[in-house]
Amino acid sequence: IDVDNETVGFLAACDTEPHTFSAAQEYVLRTLAAEIGDQMKLQRLLRSERAIRTSNDVASERLRLLESVVVNANDAVLITEAEPLDLPGPKILYANAAFTRTTGYTLAEILGKTPRILHGPDTNRKPLERLKVALREWKPVEVELLNYRKDGSTFWVELSIVPVANETGWFTHWVSVQRDVSERKANEENAVRIRMAEAHNEALANEVKERMRSEAQLAHTAFHDHLTGLRNRAYFMDRLAGSVEQFKGRLGSTCAVVFLDIDNFKTVNDRFGHSVGDLLLVEIAERLKACTRTRDTVARIGGDEFTIFLEDLHEPREAILLVERILEALRAPMHLVNNEVISGASAGISIGHYTDPEHILRDADTAMYRAKEEGGNRYAVFNEAMHEEAMAALNVRLELGKAIEQGQFELHYQPLVDTKTQQICALEALVRWRHPQRGIVPPLDFIEIAEKTGLIVPLGSWILKQACRHLCILKKSVPALQNFRMSVNVSTRQFDDPSFFSDLESALAESGIKPSELQLEITESVFVNNPERIGKLFRRIRKLGVQIACDDFGTGYSSLSYLQMYPIDTIKIDQSFVKRLDTKQADADIVHMIVSLAQALRMNVTAEGVESIGQQDVLREYGCTVVQGYLYSPPITFEEMTSLLIEQNMRFPFESQSRLKSTIVLEHTQRKSPRSHGRQVRCFLHG
Ligand code: C2E
Ligand code: CA
Ligand code: CA
Repeated sequence: IDVDNETVGFLAACDTEPHTFSAAQEYVLRTLAAEIGDQMKLQRLLRSERAIRTSNDVASERLRLLESVVVNANDAVLITEAEPLDLPGPKILYANAAFTRTTGYTLAEILGKTPRILHGPDTNRKPLERLKVALREWKPVEVELLNYRKDGSTFWVELSIVPVANETGWFTHWVSVQRDVSERKANEENAVRIRMAEAHNEALANEVKERMRSEAQLAHTAFHDHLTGLRNRAYFMDRLAGSVEQFKGRLGSTCAVVFLDIDNFKTVNDRFGHSVGDLLLVEIAERLKACTRTRDTVARIGGDEFTIFLEDLHEPREAILLVERILEALRAPMHLVNNEVISGASAGISIGHYTDPEHILRDADTAMYRAKEEGGNRYAVFNEAMHEEAMAALNVRLELGKAIEQGQFELHYQPLVDTKTQQICALEALVRWRHPQRGIVPPLDFIEIAEKTGLIVPLGSWILKQACRHLCILKKSVPALQNFRMSVNVSTRQFDDPSFFSDLESALAESGIKPSELQLEITESVFVNNPERIGKLFRRIRKLGVQIACDDFGTGYSSLSYLQMYPIDTIKIDQSFVKRLDTKQADADIVHMIVSLAQALRMNVTAEGVESIGQQDVLREYGCTVVQGYLYSPPITFEEMTSLLIEQNMRFPFESQSRLKSTIVLEHTQRKSPRSHGRQVRCFLHG
């Protein structure tokens, strides 16, 4: 409170609730303080009796003081009439300079008008409503509003209104103080905009992060094996190619590729199921990781095939040492869901100096095959000879397809002799490939490849038909042939072919031979996969009347359960036992046992590979009456077989044992190769 520019006191106002006074309240307080000061001055004057002023003078002084508070205020101040609150609104009685400055209106323009002239289309409705409600209740109010200047531009104000009462307590006026808060609003809006932009950026960043994550995930799937988490083939090849590039078009000599294939993986899968098979692969992957350095690239590139790319080796020997370590690690038993599995692997190693990544992998693969062929659970280092052999095999593969189309195959026949009657009682059909350049190619050189490529299916189908046709012709040429049978080898792979059975039926129908005159020679490997399906198929074959012989008996799994479970008519004792029959007692015992077993099971038994009278005699003694081997005849052409059978029929039975014997024995001492059959036969026939 000032009196004559001297502060004589303070006006303190307090409320029950803590809050800051609004601008309008502040102004009201200020004017109150000014009024108190005014009264005090008046009292002073009266007391000093120096001058007597009229109450009018005091009143005008009071107004002057009051005005001085607001005239120079920075905030726009309006004083309006108290009413009407509804249209057209209370009239403006006073506006200070700040008001005319901020709104652009002159005093003349606004006096007598209503403050509504400050509102426009964008003025926010909600605070206006709040304002109205408060005014109706004669309550002070504070709102934020968007106001319009005379020129139509907008600005934000913090509007604070208080009612003013006269001496009798009747509200006569409103004092409204408008503080320009455009800057703050702009800052706030800016802040909101920034917050929104930040939120947007954050969302964007999250999206980018998410995309990167899914891209990383994609990259991971693209370059990793989902089961083991090792690298996959795509990555491995990429890595090799990258290395070729790094070494300027040629792999450095100090790198190597190891190709690993698990031995007997298929057996584990078949015996314990695929889930155990999967666990085995995972365990193998773990062991491989443990054996290798972090910079080595370990990949699973196929079912049970793993590859390792070794870089920066000091010398090639390091690769070999590593492979030895790996094979050792893989030999240790694994415990997989209550099963103890003993695995093992075969490895091939190819070392440096390659320009084509495919080639170094191919050569490691070739070496791995060599290790497998040598019995597995070992490694082989690639060399050029292996490559040539592999190329030859590839050639065979390519030529085989054409050979079938061009009819380069023919069947040779080897007799099965009944030792009681000394007569040929059956023939075994053995395929030969008459190669345009290489001459006669024996089946051991191409059957396996035909099996691997699936070409055995069309080839086998042709063999079956051809053998049946030939038997039919033979029976016509030699009418005396009674209880005579044709034996045909069927590869395990052929039984996978869904049309095998119908092929068999049509071979019989087309040739007109009786089903009982046909025998299929199968090997025990046929029972390993899908034994139920094979059992069903064999029972159908047997029902047809076709006989089934178990070939090479004693070399495979030789499970006696097979003999009981499947409809097998004949056991063919493998030649390896027959060969040592008269020299090795253990083999003689095995043969004796097999013959007794066959008899007990009421099966026929045939011994193959009989080359000497001695072997024949032992077999006869054991009770094996059907024999096959060079002692009687090697496989011969169809024409030769026809002549032989006609001759046998004319000179029934094999008239001179001694002559036969001397011929064959002579042949075998002269020519060790069982494949040069042509000359032997001539000797035999005319011998
Ligand atoms: P395999 O079925 O065990 O056929 C017997 C093999 O032993 C034949 O060889 C035969 O010439 C030979 N051999 C016969 N007697 C003697 C003997 O006294 N001493 C010796 N050391 N060997 C004898 P080949 O014709 O080379 O056939 C080899 C294998 O090729 C066959 O073994 C068979 O597994 C397969 N094979 C032959 N022809 C066919 C066929 O048409 N289809 C299928 N799927 N496989 C066939
Ligand atoms: Ca056979
Ligand atoms: Ca055999």
